[in-house]
Amino acid sequence: MRLFSATIATETNTFSPLPTSIEGFKESVFLRPGEHPDDAPRMCTAPLFVTRQRAARDGFTLIEGSCFAASPAGRVNRADYEFMRDEVLAQLRDAMPLDGVLFGLHGAMVAHGYDDVEGDLIERARAIVGKDCVIGVEHDPHCHMTLKRLRHTDIMICYKEYPHTDVSERAEDLLTLVLRTLRGEIKPVMSFYDCRQIGSYPTTLPLMRGFVDRMTALEGKDDILSVSAVHCFPYADVEELSGGILVVANGNKAKADALATRLGEEFVSMRGKTMPQFLSVAEGVKAAIAEPAGPVVIADPADNAGGGAPSDNTTILRELVEMKVDSAALGPLWDPIAVRLCFDAGLGAQIPLRIGGKIGPDSGQPLDASVEVTALTRDCWQTFGPTQVPLGDCAAVRIGGVEVVLISNRTQALGLELFSNVGINPLQRKILVVKSTNHFMASFGLIAKRVIYVESDAPLARDYRKIAYTKVKRPIWPLDEITHPGLTF
Ligand SMILES: [Zn+2]
Repeated sequence: MRLFSATIATETNTFSPLPTSIEGFKESVFLRPGEHPDDAPRMCTAPLFVTRQRAARDGFTLIEGSCFAASPAGRVNRADYEFMRDEVLAQLRDAMPLDGVLFGLHGAMVAHGYDDVEGDLIERARAIVGKDCVIGVEHDPHCHMTLKRLRHTDIMICYKEYPHTDVSERAEDLLTLVLRTLRGEIKPVMSFYDCRQIGSYPTTLPLMRGFVDRMTALEGKDDILSVSAVHCFPYADVEELSGGILVVANGNKAKADALATRLGEEFVSMRGKTMPQFLSVAEGVKAAIAEPAGPVVIADPADNAGGGAPSDNTTILRELVEMKVDSAALGPLWDPIAVRLCFDAGLGAQIPLRIGGKIGPDSGQPLDASVEVTALTRDCWQTFGPTQVPLGDCAAVRIGGVEVVLISNRTQALGLELFSNVGINPLQRKILVVKSTNHFMASFGLIAKRVIYVESDAPLARDYRKIAYTKVKRPIWPLDEITHPGLTF
């Protein structure tokens, strides 16, 4: 039995002013055959990683393809996407004959000329491997579940957890189902119920937690093989943007349809009830100061690099400095120019520094301040589950009682090392401001006395009605009150 695995992944915010080129992939994950690390998967590479680990035990051969993944930003350079795609397709052609293919794809990648990158890749892969080869795909739930990719995939699975702490477990599920199909034990069929809705669904809040737990409990019995909730990625202007429910069943399309419909209707009934409460920046900072003990974590989801935001908005930082807040640390603020200036000035230097506010109008005005350089770290990193996420060269600076972690590899707040690797003990600060929507909860949720979500003026608006969509198929909630959810696959 011969399997092949590869990854091409990023989450494209089509409204972002930051283009994504091959350089963005080289900064994050750019691994050719023979270069794949043994210790842990890198972002969306879990299918290759778990398949490699099980190859000997389960008695099959894995042909390892290239894995490319970039931090979320704007549309991907067309030639760069085609270069990566053609490399993977050439590897696929060389690896024939194949029994199975496992792709680790984020699912919300958009390139110039390709609104459905994953559909394009999977369709071309299918043309090469033929109809009898089993194609399995792992997606992030923040994906666009297009009909093209469903048509050409045998088994599609999304992570269930948000924060995405189950990337490897879902890759294991995918591999198991692919192997069972190849052994003739199951005949997967898929159904998708399109809920016609845009939303955010942290599984750290009770309503979605309960939904995911019930979804999981349905798997493995009564012909149900897998259930995924597709959250959708709101910051992309593509036609097939929408949340929904995907069911994989064993041979029984009617059962898959029925369950997708039942859970889909329930998912529709959860509209507007799955997001945390948001305070204004001033209210949020005031509430954090009022707490008797820290750390109080303030989240700035609107400037989440993980959703393609520049992560250099200064609004909350300015509020902290102007309020003369003591014992506060903010990170990450993406500003490679400021990092360079800090390295040039040296550890302990007191310098005038212009921080943030550089990429676009949604970055706010830069903050000019006299800062003390308190830490300089080359090739810094943080963890997210088993994955080590590079931060590039980092500097920490102090403005009165406020410390700022400046990074040069743009990414969101994930692990406590974001602070500790530049000499800031997060447990000993009263207020921690993190630029992240919900992934920070996996580590910061464990140490926070309280988590406060604020709505800043950074670009990822929580109110989706404010987003200037032109291509998204209508009607869709909350842009439209009346919608027509239903089975589309
Ligand atoms: Zn995601």
